[in-house]
Amino acid sequence: MNASIITIGDELLIGQTIDTNSAFIAQEFNQFGLWVKRRVAVGDNFEDIWNVLDQESENSQIIIITGGLGPTADDITKPLLCKYFGGELVLNEEVLKHIKYLFKNVLKHKTPLLKRNIMQAEVPDVCTVLFNEKGTAPGMWFEKEIKGEKRIFVSLPGVPHEMKWLMVNEVIPRLKKEFQFGAVMHRTAVTFGMGESSVAELLQPFENKLPQHIALAYLPNFGMVKMRLTATGIEKDALADELSEYFDELCSTVQDILVAKEDLAIEVIVGQLLREMGKTVASAESCTGGNIAHLVTRVPGSSAYFKGSVVAYANEIKENVLGVQSRTLETVGAVSEETVTEMVKGTIERLGVDYAVATSGIMGPDGGSEEKPVGTVWIAAGNKLKVETKLLKLRFDRERNIEVASVQALNFFRNFVTLNR
Ligand code: AMP
Ligand code: MG
Repeated sequence: MNASIITIGDELLIGQTIDTNSAFIAQEFNQFGLWVKRRVAVGDNFEDIWNVLDQESENSQIIIITGGLGPTADDITKPLLCKYFGGELVLNEEVLKHIKYLFKNVLKHKTPLLKRNIMQAEVPDVCTVLFNEKGTAPGMWFEKEIKGEKRIFVSLPGVPHEMKWLMVNEVIPRLKKEFQFGAVMHRTAVTFGMGESSVAELLQPFENKLPQHIALAYLPNFGMVKMRLTATGIEKDALADELSEYFDELCSTVQDILVAKEDLAIEVIVGQLLREMGKTVASAESCTGGNIAHLVTRVPGSSAYFKGSVVAYANEIKENVLGVQSRTLETVGAVSEETVTEMVKGTIERLGVDYAVATSGIMGPDGGSEEKPVGTVWIAAGNKLKVETKLLKLRFDRERNIEVASVQALNFFRNFVTLNR
């Protein structure tokens, strides 16, 4: 059983709106074993939409369409579907009642109820109307026999929260009633410190013996590599056991670089570690400008272990707030091993924490020199007894340099804490 997702709207094609609808639908389907075979975006164009409906009914039994249901002339999905399935538009009293209710109670009559809004209550007489609690455009469920096999087409509004409500409350329950789905399961391991190709070399023998129904995917980012094992089958419990065995073998093969046996962000892993130990941390950030603090405090409950951050961008802040010596800054400069070491020591002392992490570097596009080119970043992690440092040589644009330096610093910190509990 396959599904196709068709998203409609010129805004998707010109990149004005990012297609988050497909991602949401795909994630939902994945959870109960419905495989998404294709995701297609088309503009607000009659012929293009018609053709893609023809094409996707060749590919899939279930076709989900989002967008193009608004009250404006550019939204043509509804009349098109009506024609495609050979129906007539008829006024649906229940939808009209709901539209009037929304105008009265939610919009408080601030917007007049126009003919074009009333027309949203018109639906093809060949579909099942899916009540949209969150908005004026209802969802529509069509069925059509193609080559002796039933196809289901569901049209949903493009507005993400309306689409989500309809998917969860109307579409998925109906699909589950209609079909028997198998199981799809994922397990993810996170590694740090080895490139994707080298990890793949290491895992080649393991990959070679994976059965057909278990697939390995590599997802590299920020210097880490996530590895996802995906198993598909019928019998849920047996599949979970089998996947678990392969996952254990995967983890032991990459043991030396393994950071987590779950799909977790580095700031979550660091948080778990500190919480477990009952220790605290603060950051001293020059080139990352508080991004490490931002990442760490995104995690709910981080106040249990994160005390604060000093964004020590200018030398005088490094000196006056963190106690970095002026001699250090004058002789070896702000981007140096000595400076980040003193930043860590000053942070531990002045913010009263068990551990600290610090960054200082040149993010670009300007400010580099022959000796210290753009992308030169010193990171440090330490406790009261010792400080360790690492030099990064990044090669991206400013924004990505900041992201990579932050994630690398957090992983360097994680390593330090693991070895110096
Ligand atoms: P429509 O149903 O075409 O009138 O779209 C209504 C709103 O939903 C617009 O603001 C679109 O930008 C947004 N939207 C439409 N399709 C998508 C999509 N695939 N992902 C995210 N937002 C969307
Ligand atoms: Mg539109």
